[in-house]
Amino acid sequence: MRVAFFGGTFDPIHRGHLRLAAAAADAFDLDRVLFAPVGLQPLKAEHAIASFADRSEMIALALASGSHNSSAREHLPPTANFPDSRFAMSTLDAPRPNGSPNFTIDTLGALVLEYPAAQLFVLSGADSFLDLRRWRSPNQLLALAEWIVVSRPEFPLTEPQLAALALTPTQRDRVHLLTTVHEDVSATDLRRRLRTGDPCPGLLFPAVSTYIQTHNLYRSP
Ligand code: ATP
Repeated sequence: MRVAFFGGTFDPIHRGHLRLAAAAADAFDLDRVLFAPVGLQPLKAEHAIASFADRSEMIALALASGSHNSSAREHLPPTANFPDSRFAMSTLDAPRPNGSPNFTIDTLGALVLEYPAAQLFVLSGADSFLDLRRWRSPNQLLALAEWIVVSRPEFPLTEPQLAALALTPTQRDRVHLLTTVHEDVSATDLRRRLRTGDPCPGLLFPAVSTYIQTHNLYRSP
């Protein structure tokens, strides 16, 4: 079984996340992609705006959305069938009971225990992966799982960029590049637009937009 861990703040989940996951699942024949919202991201200066519960609920709503809805179809590659039975929400990276940050190295340790027989992958956008040397225990991270690194506008994903990470040949072999995703969307930009009342059509699943409006998320205090 080929299982991919897809961690992130998902504040909120958007089209870029879904395109990344669908493209990676197709290209690397993944049986399962675990969307795992993070409790407390150690490297982001700002904390998530929405609570863990709200971010999780928005992921669940997005993953349950059907592609029969034309607006939902805009979020996915033309061939995608939604809901996608390969996608699932995971609470593996939920807030730690003592309030400490969530380090991916600990989360991957838990993933290994949950899927002892699986071939494990981590999905990451280019921006996050190119920062890998700042993460805790990067060498161990590359030993515990293979990495699928996906292109993102403004974050070139080429060998010179990767060279900065000083990967050994064995590590480099465990990093797979997927350069076919070109989604110019970020949660930061969406939060800024949502603050002004823009529902961000085409970038958020309709069910997620409705949840945001109903719960009055991302509006000015
Ligand atoms: P923010 O703007 O709040 O930093 P984000 O849009 O980058 O959020 P995250 O939840 O932090 O979203 O991202 C989770 C993962 O998805 C990261 O590995 C990130 O690189 C990747 N990702 C997010 N958006 C895109 C995108 N448009 N294209 C490719 N990868 C993306």
